[in-house]
Amino acid sequence: MTEATAIRQPQPANKSATLLYQVAMSQPASHLFEITLQVDCWQSKVLDLKMPVWTPGSYLVREYARHIQDFVAEDSKGEILTSHKVSKNHWQVVAENNSTVLIKYRIYANELTVRTNHLDSTHGYFNGAALFFFIPDFEQEQIKVKVIPPQADWQVTTTLTAVAGEDNTYIAQDFDTLVDTPIEVGTQQVHNFEVLGKPHSWAIWSQGNVKPKKLIKDTAKIIETEAEMFGGLPYEQYIFLLHLSGSGYGGLEHKDSCTLNYPRFGFRDREKYERFLQLVAHEFFHLWNVKRIRPKALEKFDYETENYTTSLWFCEGTTSYYDILIPLRAGIYKRKTYLKNLSKDINKYLTTPGRNVQPLGESSYDAWIKLYRRDAYSDNNQISYYLKGQLVSLLLDLLIRAKYNNKRSLDDVMRLMWQRFGQDEIGFSEVQLRDTIAEVAEENLDDFFTRYIETTEELPFNDYLDAFGLYLKTVDNTDVPYIGIKVQSENNKEVIGFVEAQSPAALAGIDAKDELLAINGIRVDSTSLNERLKNYQANDTIQVTVFHQDELKTLPVTLTKPQPNGYKVAIQEDLSDQQQQNLTGWLGGN
Ligand SMILES: [Zn+2]
Repeated sequence: MTEATAIRQPQPANKSATLLYQVAMSQPASHLFEITLQVDCWQSKVLDLKMPVWTPGSYLVREYARHIQDFVAEDSKGEILTSHKVSKNHWQVVAENNSTVLIKYRIYANELTVRTNHLDSTHGYFNGAALFFFIPDFEQEQIKVKVIPPQADWQVTTTLTAVAGEDNTYIAQDFDTLVDTPIEVGTQQVHNFEVLGKPHSWAIWSQGNVKPKKLIKDTAKIIETEAEMFGGLPYEQYIFLLHLSGSGYGGLEHKDSCTLNYPRFGFRDREKYERFLQLVAHEFFHLWNVKRIRPKALEKFDYETENYTTSLWFCEGTTSYYDILIPLRAGIYKRKTYLKNLSKDINKYLTTPGRNVQPLGESSYDAWIKLYRRDAYSDNNQISYYLKGQLVSLLLDLLIRAKYNNKRSLDDVMRLMWQRFGQDEIGFSEVQLRDTIAEVAEENLDDFFTRYIETTEELPFNDYLDAFGLYLKTVDNTDVPYIGIKVQSENNKEVIGFVEAQSPAALAGIDAKDELLAINGIRVDSTSLNERLKNYQANDTIQVTVFHQDELKTLPVTLTKPQPNGYKVAIQEDLSDQQQQNLTGWLGGN
């Protein structure tokens, strides 16, 4: 938390104000939510209202206030009260001696992601941070929310506590809870099921080829597997909100729900369905890791500014390590599939040059300006804390498992983090996290953390895989000399999407976003590029013709020797008994 941006008002004498939000959507096709905040028992001359600039779980300042329009403040008789803006997200209302103040505004909601609002003729979906103001010093007060659907067949789905006897009315115990509890309004299909004695639901909006029965069966296995790991389920009920759309993909975790976006027809194909279940395992794992086991910087959210932490490698990376492991443990897929998924991730890591530029801790700290703000150059100077954090977690798990013959593992770290910091929601520091890992490993890991979190030293996969009878196999692209570009077709143009820094193409002056036209005067495209390059050898100079900002240019490019272009985790031949035992203890049989 930073204090610098907070504008302090004198503390109210009596913090007894009551807050009621009404959320209407009388013309859903307009994408406008109509919001009324009624503040009763207000005792101060001024009422401050602030809109969050970001929402937990998605580390980017999104300026939610930019969607507000038609702001007006009234007293209980409907007389307009003076109000003005103090900053981009801060409104001040002169309440005078009115104990009841009504704030009315509308929010434009036409962004279908897990962390924004969406309203159209088929449904309404909103996130608290993107819809509601908080009143400084009153964040701990309970907030009543009444949802007013536009038609009778629209129902409300949320984990907020329903108020008995009042239609579509709920209580959030404080502002954090309101932010952490998204609300779906519409004709979503709700499928209820029970796991370990607790109620769960899938609420599915829109059409697709998802099979609810199968989904419930697989979800239950994931829930049971994760509950076993942490020792129970720390919530009363849990809802999975699923939005089906053309190509949307994403998830956002909450304490007792999550929102998932997925392609509507992504459930029949086995691989796509497994990817979806990994997303489910990931967001569900977060209900412990990051929602309750939180870095100190996120112990108390500052909704007005960036909340910096170096520990997202653990919050997101370790969660990613488990998201492919949990389905294996749950019996959803076998070892071969797990290793294929792991190989894909290691391959992505080893083909991202930014791993040699940005240390893992820095990747986490700079999430706000880098990971969520990627551009065509990003792979050259960034490494995702999801990806590298996952692979550092892999090394840590293997280190602990090999040392203790699988009798200890990263699971013990998770349980200890849960007991120490999660259960009581005491934020952990990066030092406390490292100490906990070292305690389970019974080893000083300072050198490990320096190498792999604080610097960009290459991860020594084989050193850790060997005890489990595995190794990293390099797939060579021996006959394609290296140029260093990635090309894709866009609107009938062959666009260079990525140029690797210091590659032959970069040294020749080829830029990302250039349109590739020809090699040595003959047209080339993304599908024929590699075949064409095979006609040349390292040290050959070719003439590459591009449009660079609409200007035709022909640039000499001197190719270099072929680069390895793929990596795969493979099983060694003739495993020793110890290796076999380690492998089975970690990933089960075959
Ligand atoms: Zn995540």
